[in-house]
Amino acid sequence: MELDINSAVIEVTRKCNMNCEHCLRGASQRKTISDQHIYKFLQIVDNIGTLTITGGEPTLAMESLEQIKHCAQYGNCAVGDFYMVTNGKAINVDRLAEWANSMRFVCHNNEISGVAFSFDTFHTQTLEWKQAEKQKRNFQRLQEKIQYEYGIFDEGCGEFIRQHSDTSSMSYDSLISEGRAKDFGARDNNLYAFESYEYDDVIHFSEEVLYLSSNGYIVAGCNWSYESIDNRQDIRIGHIDDINCTDQLIEAIEAYNRKRNRVDIDETELAAVYEAV
Ligand code: SF4
Repeated sequence: MELDINSAVIEVTRKCNMNCEHCLRGASQRKTISDQHIYKFLQIVDNIGTLTITGGEPTLAMESLEQIKHCAQYGNCAVGDFYMVTNGKAINVDRLAEWANSMRFVCHNNEISGVAFSFDTFHTQTLEWKQAEKQKRNFQRLQEKIQYEYGIFDEGCGEFIRQHSDTSSMSYDSLISEGRAKDFGARDNNLYAFESYEYDDVIHFSEEVLYLSSNGYIVAGCNWSYESIDNRQDIRIGHIDDINCTDQLIEAIEAYNRKRNRVDIDETELAAVYEAV
């Protein structure tokens, strides 16, 4: 059976060079994902619609980003789009531009692929004035480099390097009550099941996100603090060290779904229900 995941996330590092008050992850940690865990995950999963790369600050783990690119290029997994948000505070513009451009070639869809910079109020107010100026300069330099050196804007890929600056929707009320925002975040992080269907020996999971953490835990959902990822059994799907093949990961996701008490979509049953209505 092949495994097709609509949305997967790899947390490449828990290191960060900022200390935002709204951070749902919590205090940074000196942890970075191993190359072996990236390799194994991308060997076991056959297709990923959108692969989001997260942290911490992902650009502090450039070697891991290179490993993801390498595995997506030469390994088993086909990736449609990739997406990464950086705080942009201290990036190596040349290296990031080269990586982002190569990822675009490795991905086969690229409708939403891109790198976004955090320009929202919470990040901006955390930066000193000089740092905020540098963040803006880094953004501009990366955008120009991508545009003029790789010509990405000419190829209809939309805003490949873009701003993550939804200031209108970002208020204290919008914060999830996890990590540093635990005490003042107003939103709960809900638990969802994956929806699934099978065709031609492929099982497809959507609606929920499959998250690989930098210490190897696989959990459901991406808006969790490090503390929740490491300790909550109700979101746990497994650990990458214990999962050795695609069928095992499928079984682990299905076991998680059974915990959520949701019935997988069965096309035949669904058709019968619609007919009865
Ligand atoms: S929100 Fe992002 S940039 Fe800010 S502390 Fe958390 S991981 Fe770092």
